Amino acid sequence: MSGGLRVTVTGGAGFIGSNLVSWLLRHPAVGRVTVVDDCSTGSVRLLGSDLAETDFRHGSVLDPGLLDQAMARADAVVHLAALPSVPRSVLDPMASHQANATGTLTVLEAARRADGPLVVAASSSSVYGAQPNLPKSEHDRAVPLSPYAVSKLATEAYLGAYHSCYGLPVLPLRFFNVYGPRQQAGHPYAAVVPKWIDAALANRPVTVYGDGTQSRDLTCVDTVCQVITTAITDRVTSPWPVNLALGTRTSLLNLVEQLGDVLGIRLQVEHAAPRPGDVAHSQADPARLLELFPGTTAVPLHEGLAATVAWHCDQRVKDGLHRAPARRRSAPPSPTKGIG
Ligand code: NAD
Repeated sequence: MSGGLRVTVTGGAGFIGSNLVSWLLRHPAVGRVTVVDDCSTGSVRLLGSDLAETDFRHGSVLDPGLLDQAMARADAVVHLAALPSVPRSVLDPMASHQANATGTLTVLEAARRADGPLVVAASSSSVYGAQPNLPKSEHDRAVPLSPYAVSKLATEAYLGAYHSCYGLPVLPLRFFNVYGPRQQAGHPYAAVVPKWIDAALANRPVTVYGDGTQSRDLTCVDTVCQVITTAITDRVTSPWPVNLALGTRTSLLNLVEQLGDVLGIRLQVEHAAPRPGDVAHSQADPARLLELFPGTTAVPLHEGLAATVAWHCDQRVKDGLHRAPARRRSAPPSPTKGIG
């Protein structure tokens, strides 16, 4: 076995997890990366050639025996496995609770048995829910509006409790709207960025729930991977949750514009009724993040969208699909980057 840090990533075959595995494998301080994933929403395909360099364990974080094997002698565990999506949890709250809340508890118990590796876990900005303050500070009260948000509040609260009761080094991170390459489009719970890119490339209209004035703090997955990698190499801990976003605020209508610019087309928009459990506005107060991770750099939205579009175009070529002919704007589009 090579030297260096041993890191276990749950949910490592998912969107954020597979990007993180790539980051970790390329970091000189990291010696071994183990992935635990049941491939319920992720796929080994997302790991690409990284799969060969990874100790991949197919199975659930609800399986204590599997976790004991996967976390043996781990220096850090990044717990990303979860059933994401607010609407999914509204349809099936028990499944979200099992995977997300009970799953976290099972991982923490395994960490306790494994002599206390650092546990970094994904919480979500959805915990702020009906909290009206902007930007959202970790000092604000959490007012979750969906079973998914409750399961994420449980995740971060369990991390705090395991630090307090057992001295486990922990870092609960509240992700905001993360986007980037490898985020999947073709399923009913797809996030807005991949869903819209997929629709635009197939010349379909993009669906905006509500009037489109709702806003999000869109965070490129590279920023998330940078912070988590630094947390592992520099052993950054916090029993309290930390926002992982940089305080930007983009309305959905503005996102339509920006995507149109990157693609060089005018997106067709159709409006639908607002979805239950969705929050109106989301923007992080990044003060705590920047205190703990002063070197954090934001990827500009236009740049992140261009890389994401490039990945989708690449996937379409691999899948034998071709980008549908674009309807050009009457005025020349802004320069586009990375479109295959
Ligand atoms: P994803 O669905 O791509 O990844 C989740 C991974 O967990 C998948 O590979 C899935 O197969 C795996 N998984 C699910 N249940 C499992 C189980 N019981 N055992 C083992 N593996 C299991 O989603 P993502 O966007 O990469 O999200 C990663 C984490 O970040 C999740 O915890 C999610 O709740 C959180 N998060 C994501 C966002 C975002 O914008 N993407 C925002 C806030 C929080």
